[in-house]
Amino acid sequence: SEALKLTGIFKGYNLGQPSEIRVLNGVDLTLEPGHVTALVAPSGAGKSTLLHIAGLLDTPDKGTVTLAGQDLTGQTDRVRTRARRERIGFVYQFHHLLPEFTAAENIILPQLANGVSQATARAHAEDLLGRVGLSHRMDHRPAEMSGGEQQRTAFCRALANGPSLLLADEPTGNLDPGTSDTVFDALMTLVRETGMSALIATHNLALAARMDRTLRLEQGRLV
Ligand code: ADP
Ligand code: ADP
Repeated sequence: SEALKLTGIFKGYNLGQPSEIRVLNGVDLTLEPGHVTALVAPSGAGKSTLLHIAGLLDTPDKGTVTLAGQDLTGQTDRVRTRARRERIGFVYQFHHLLPEFTAAENIILPQLANGVSQATARAHAEDLLGRVGLSHRMDHRPAEMSGGEQQRTAFCRALANGPSLLLADEPTGNLDPGTSDTVFDALMTLVRETGMSALIATHNLALAARMDRTLRLEQGRLV
């Protein structure tokens, strides 16, 4: 089944008040496994609102959210949080790595929280870091790594628990163009090799052109 399916999503803020704003006006979106989709939206168009709904961090006013065949509309917070932890990886513009822990430890910790053994978690962290060319940074703390290395580590952490869906919000937004390309290549490698589905919000049209398709958020709908 599809990795993510959004159907007829409506979302507004301050509804019924003078400050009412209608952000999403019937968004339909299907993400197939193994596909990378670019989400392009001018500032204020509702990109964050859409990513939060897709990531089960917020609920729509109307419409359905289905993740790997499971309809999560109207489910309890507990069920939604569990689905989020098991199935979704998040990447942001800033890496949000834990500064007091090494690269490997940042990838090991979320796995331990999911009940994986230390040895298995360590082996998986080594494998992920190796795939993005960071075997030599395993035992370095974020402050000892470059911006690009930190961001590649954050991708590995997002994939630590084997999610089926990756949601990324401007993942290369704070990097210079050369580093941005290297980091994006690493992200694409990880996504392709794991067969996950990814929705990547970006302002970088050159990066968007390298993904499988581009969707634009315009007047509350995807085109
Ligand atoms: P983007 O990420 O594309 O910049 P957002 O999804 O953050 O857009 O916001 C879309 C619109 O909704 C903006 O006009 C924003 O001001 C408004 N908005 C977002 N969150 C809230 C909120 N919690 N309360 C009121 N308005 C909000
Ligand atoms: P944890 O397992 O660390 O308690 P959660 O289950 O709360 O994390 O969240 C899972 C993922 O959702 C994390 O990667 C976190 O970064 C992201 N997340 C949680 N809350 C928010 C939020 N308000 N805005 C953006 N991302 C969030």
